[in-house]
Amino acid sequence: MNQQQKSGNDPIVELIDVGVTKLSPTGQNVVILDRISFAARPGEITGIIGPSGSGKSTLIRLINRLDEPSEGRILLNDENISAIDPLLLRQKVAMVLQKPFMFEGTLLDNLQRPFLFRNLTPPSDESIEITRVLELVQLSTEMLVRDARSLSGGEQQRVNLARALISHPQVLLLDEPTSSLDRPATARLATTLHNICSSEHLAIIVVTHDLYLAEHIVDHLIYLEQGKIMEEGAGTQILAKPQTAAFRSFLTEPDRNKEPSS
Ligand code: ADP
Ligand code: MG
Repeated sequence: MNQQQKSGNDPIVELIDVGVTKLSPTGQNVVILDRISFAARPGEITGIIGPSGSGKSTLIRLINRLDEPSEGRILLNDENISAIDPLLLRQKVAMVLQKPFMFEGTLLDNLQRPFLFRNLTPPSDESIEITRVLELVQLSTEMLVRDARSLSGGEQQRVNLARALISHPQVLLLDEPTSSLDRPATARLATTLHNICSSEHLAIIVVTHDLYLAEHIVDHLIYLEQGKIMEEGAGTQILAKPQTAAFRSFLTEPDRNKEPSS
């Protein structure tokens, strides 16, 4: 199918039989991910859940080449990402990490960083670039002068998100974005992600331990265990009717919302 024939809901990202094998400290090959195939579509949130150590972080790190697959292919708009320069790729496929990271300086300084990294003139406080991302993450322009490190955890995570959105990515990867947030801040971030996903027509892939996110905003859910996809489907559907004992037991674990140790 050529580019013109593609419809709006064709996948942006496709993983085809992706495997990752690493060498353990004792020199043995360890399979971290095993024949992973799935697609992420624009305007949809794909959730990846699973126990600690199941390979979730490795999986999303592959999608912006922070890690490389040992087998299989990863396509972005039908192009193998192994042929795309990692820095260019990361503008199209942005990553938001678990703990918000603030550079020294104000909120504005933090939003200007991606431009400075690329030797570009940073946008001013009144520019469309800055006001657009602030509006998307629901932070007021009055906060631009605030010391970024003095903001609350929830606000810092929004700054992280704004910084990722400033280069107009097509795909947003989030690794446990709510693990350091309380329930109200989690709920606010969830609503923001849901709104951004449809307004920006983004494909969002979020790794989470948090069933609140899985239940409230995820369209397509993948349950990963020991590097394998054990269940996959519409979020509400597979949460209501888990098919495997492993997933049922994961859903009833009392410590399921805890931050993973790895
Ligand atoms: P999760 O995010 O689901 O907790 P990870 O993707 O971080 O899982 O890790 C999956 C497994 O891969 C873990 O057993 C971890 O110890 C192992 N692992 C991660 N990175 C490496 C590496 N660079 N070398 C060897 N093993 C690794
Ligand atoms: Mg992880």
